[in-house]
Amino acid sequence: MINMQSLNLNDTIAAIATPCGEGGIGIVRISGKDALLVADKVFSAKSNKKPSTFKSHMVHYGWIMEAKSEKRKAQNEKIIDEVLLTVMRAPRTYTKEDIVEINCHGGMVALKSVLDLVLSCGARLAAPGEFTKRAFLNGRIDLAQAESVLDIIHAKSQEALRVSLRQLKGGLSERINKIRQGLLESLALLEANIEFPDEEIGNIDKDALLGKLNDALDKLNSLIQTSFYGKMMRDGIHVVICGKPNAGKSSLLNAILKEERSIVTPIAGTTRDTVEEFISLKGVPVCLVDTAGLKDASGLIEKEAMSRSRKKIKHADVVLVVFDSSTKLNKDDKKILRQANSDITVAVLNKIDLKKRIEEDVIRRSLPRIVEVSAKKERNIQALEEAIVGLACKRQGSCQDGFFVSNTRHIQALKEAHKLVASAVSSMDNNLLPVELVAQELKDALSGLDEVLGKDSNKDILDKIFSQFCIGK
Ligand code: GDP
Repeated sequence: MINMQSLNLNDTIAAIATPCGEGGIGIVRISGKDALLVADKVFSAKSNKKPSTFKSHMVHYGWIMEAKSEKRKAQNEKIIDEVLLTVMRAPRTYTKEDIVEINCHGGMVALKSVLDLVLSCGARLAAPGEFTKRAFLNGRIDLAQAESVLDIIHAKSQEALRVSLRQLKGGLSERINKIRQGLLESLALLEANIEFPDEEIGNIDKDALLGKLNDALDKLNSLIQTSFYGKMMRDGIHVVICGKPNAGKSSLLNAILKEERSIVTPIAGTTRDTVEEFISLKGVPVCLVDTAGLKDASGLIEKEAMSRSRKKIKHADVVLVVFDSSTKLNKDDKKILRQANSDITVAVLNKIDLKKRIEEDVIRRSLPRIVEVSAKKERNIQALEEAIVGLACKRQGSCQDGFFVSNTRHIQALKEAHKLVASAVSSMDNNLLPVELVAQELKDALSGLDEVLGKDSNKDILDKIFSQFCIGK
């Protein structure tokens, strides 16, 4: 169980909540029971009122001053920064505690000076993630929601961001609570059987019980299925561009990136090593890899480059095999065609701005997914992007009404719960285990789900999760 004392909810914490470096504004955030008292000590409002008398959720203009005498203010002495200060009173705040946010206009030095002053007036420097941890400990959000705050900060794509926001609103918690409810009802039925073993409740309720458990299994399973999609959205997909030298791989990469980053040259075989670029294609984070041209290697360096290209292709989620459509297939093309895995490959017929000479029907026999483009003239690149994302989504499963699970800890807990419930169902089906042991499996499954929501998390788990946050969040 959580040791509340060691989690220090009684003091007042403060931190710079905006990233390091130069910026238009920076925010110092204070949370805790003394937040308003600290603000009274450091803030001098233009209206001369004290922050502790301000209405909640209102912004006030003034100065952060080391000593707040009128005379000094007039002399412009000891003014650390000109700021906007917002008071947000508990419980309608991020942490459910009193919060003061100071919008500083100076640079990093002013921001640090404001923080130092706040710390010298009774606040303590917050640990990473401590504001969010307080929101969790004060019961405003559950652990899955707290983790979604982290995912929001780290989101690599619009789609990942959208789902993290949805999770913050309780999307996952709601689904897990429904599963928990089903398991709790099943457990109640089982325990009635334990308490009144002489009455053949097992016979009466077995169907109802199995129905409930199978329903929980279905729900768990469909959440687990979304995790493949979730992983794709979280970590992105690897798209590897390959093909014989001079087919137009680098040009294609550039056309997709819409900027000239890798070297494009008419001399065959200049992309010796692989070039990697991260982009977002239709909301999916994508790592695009341009490989060395695939052909029979002669020199040692070429052989090494070739072997690296093959490794990249082996680990790819989607492979783009680029052909020069203005020439007939040569032996390098034919070898690539023989080796390509049609499940993950899109054949790209490049240079359609030139006269077409390639044997498209031969390609189609091995690789049915074909997109014609001109990398040089940036023609049909959109269609290719759609084909890439379409293929990746098809392979990675789908989301559930726009929702997916992407957090590794959650996925593991769901899989473990699924395993336990499946085992309980099979034990009951085959009258294998005593009822007590089946009940225990359901209890274990339930506590696994509780871990996701943080209902029974120990301090180590919490520390591990919140230490991944940045300071000030
Ligand atoms: P790579 O060796 O496969 O990476 O090929 P490059 O991207 O370096 O391109 C080889 C040559 O083909 C260069 O001269 C490019 O300008 C040319 N090229 C690439 N794409 C096209 C295209 O769509 N149309 C035409 N006409 N030329 C292209």
